[in-house]
Amino acid sequence: MFKRLNDLSESHGSLQAGKGMVTGVIALILAALCFLGVMAFHFPQYLTTPELRRSYNVDVMRQLLFWCMVIAGGLSVALIVLGRVRWLAASAFGLVALSALLGGHKVPVGEFATDTPYIGLDWFILDLLGSSLIFIFIEKLFALRKDQPVFRPEWQTDFHHFLVNHMVVGFILLATNLMVHKLFGWAANDGIRGWVANLNFWVALFLIILVADLVQYWTHRAYHEVPLLWRIHAVHHSVKSMDWLAGSRQHILELLITRTLVLAPIYVLGFSKEVIDAYIIIVGFQAVFNHANVSVRLGPLRYVIVTPNFHHWHHSQDQEALDKNYAAHFAFLDYLFGTAVKSDKLWPKDYGVLGDYVPNGFFKQLKFPFTWKG
Ligand SMILES: [Zn+2]
Ligand SMILES: [Zn+2]
Repeated sequence: MFKRLNDLSESHGSLQAGKGMVTGVIALILAALCFLGVMAFHFPQYLTTPELRRSYNVDVMRQLLFWCMVIAGGLSVALIVLGRVRWLAASAFGLVALSALLGGHKVPVGEFATDTPYIGLDWFILDLLGSSLIFIFIEKLFALRKDQPVFRPEWQTDFHHFLVNHMVVGFILLATNLMVHKLFGWAANDGIRGWVANLNFWVALFLIILVADLVQYWTHRAYHEVPLLWRIHAVHHSVKSMDWLAGSRQHILELLITRTLVLAPIYVLGFSKEVIDAYIIIVGFQAVFNHANVSVRLGPLRYVIVTPNFHHWHHSQDQEALDKNYAAHFAFLDYLFGTAVKSDKLWPKDYGVLGDYVPNGFFKQLKFPFTWKG
């Protein structure tokens, strides 16, 4: 059974439909989330994110955990009864049973220290449940490639990136905050900060996205044009199937560098908390949506706003699209700087790095920038 589970976690093809595999994998992932959720209830000081737990209700989380256990348990029992992928269903059922034995949704939470180093388990669980439900729904409604399954080739690698990039959220927040203050603290000017903080909300929101995207544009362009930086960014480009999960494939160094540089002007200019919160929601949505398997082009608005179509071209292997379409929010930046894709085709054909030299698998990709002899 362990060998089969290991093979599943490392195989790179898409899941075959109709044999219980898809249901089994969903049951197993849900069961694993239940187990992690129970652990987070037991050790909230180490396994939950302070910034996040302030905004959710623990009783709602208990309900959520309960229903996840019911669904994962129900699916695995159904598979066992039907005699399909019993090895997978039994693993899922075992995890649900273990979660229940460890207290399930009833684990009491007392007072706990709030200044401990932590892993963002709650952020991983909630974002995975929320994003997969919302974006898979949108992808089914407006599918670009209708025959591309949810569990498409290499989904395990991107899922692994998703997992790790969420777990290290505390470290990323700490490190980027520290770097922003150390490197750019000198630039903060009270006069400018006061003026920006008092701007009208919508003006400030436009300004924060514009400033962030200008920095993002030039950082992104540098990743493509400076060979040393391309080593890091090539990992993001190695994805060959575009969907909501694909954008998670990002080297942790890229995450740290880009985030520090984008946060720097936001901090220096002193935007209000409401504006920053709105920006974080937009950035979080667009980062996922732009990679999604949806056929959204937005008509003439596509020259202004970055759409999935615009960013799909950025990931394309087509000659006319190489090193183009860098913007993340405002497509007009690429038209302004002369890097927008011009093509007769509506959508690109193939995605990925030209020459396909980035290995598959999370750890291989983590090492790739340091070991590549290209
Ligand atoms: Zn790129
Ligand atoms: Zn991308």
